[in-house]
Amino acid sequence: MELRCEGCAGCCVDWRPLAPEAAGSDRTDRRPPLDDAYDLVPLTRDEVAGFLDDGLGDVLVPRLFAPAEGDAAVGIDGVEVAAAGDRPVFAVGLRKPPKSVAPIDADGHRWLDACVFLDPTTLQCRIHGGARYPRTCSTYPVHGLELDAETECERVEAAGGGDRLLDDAVPDDTPPLPFGPHAAGATVFAYPDPDDLDGVIDRLRGDRLTPDDRARFVGAAVGSSPGSLSVDRDRMAEARARARDADSWAGRAIRAWSERAAGDGDPVGLDPDDRERLVRELEDDAGAPETPGWE
Ligand code: SF4
Ligand code: SF4
Repeated sequence: MELRCEGCAGCCVDWRPLAPEAAGSDRTDRRPPLDDAYDLVPLTRDEVAGFLDDGLGDVLVPRLFAPAEGDAAVGIDGVEVAAAGDRPVFAVGLRKPPKSVAPIDADGHRWLDACVFLDPTTLQCRIHGGARYPRTCSTYPVHGLELDAETECERVEAAGGGDRLLDDAVPDDTPPLPFGPHAAGATVFAYPDPDDLDGVIDRLRGDRLTPDDRARFVGAAVGSSPGSLSVDRDRMAEARARARDADSWAGRAIRAWSERAAGDGDPVGLDPDDRERLVRELEDDAGAPETPGWE
């Protein structure tokens, strides 16, 4: 597999406002997510725990699903939620605040939801190749190719964003799919206390989750064990408390970007120097790992 990622970030940014037809939808699975995040990166249980250990519990967000036909479901806030028995199933991904970005070689910066770890200046990943670099990102778009599904690389090409997928051979050492048969307790978890979720689904759908809402799911994910949907209560409580107390550069940057942003897809309207200054102020000077730029 060979990619040309410079100037792209199509898999890290919600670029639907730029090219609604080409960006398409990631809601093609049998169980559509209840939130509206685009291309959420599903994390493994160990990856969630790793972010928490690094004090980055405030970058994590849960995803719950509408039930597919034949699925068990629970009703919360008047919404049917896919469940295992009476426990809602969920995944955990990385938050995407609105940032000033110009992905897929767009003409000018716009306010688009972008991964918390995307450097808006270089359009590179701030955790690329490091211990926290998610497996989903390091292997992208191989699972899509394997399933013969359209990839963001191909969508970007179709939107006029240049040649991106230069070689689509699937490597032999491709890891298993995140939502395959081995997903229980590894990337798909079950929340053990559905009665505590009143209001949470409503806030999830309205993009208004609170730190405590997010922390309760992070806790349940870390309390899970691969191969099972049971949850260790002590580990869950300890992880939930740590997630709720997290106060990282990234969490603060999410808040700062969200306060400054205009509407989805609106032009940012700053000159290049001011844009770079803003990124430096909100991310680099606040502690974000630097990116090298493209050679
Ligand atoms: S972790 Fe990095 S590669 Fe993955 S979505 Fe975020 S910025 Fe993109
Ligand atoms: S969409 Fe494809 S080409 Fe673009 S940044 Fe992601 S992996 Fe690279």
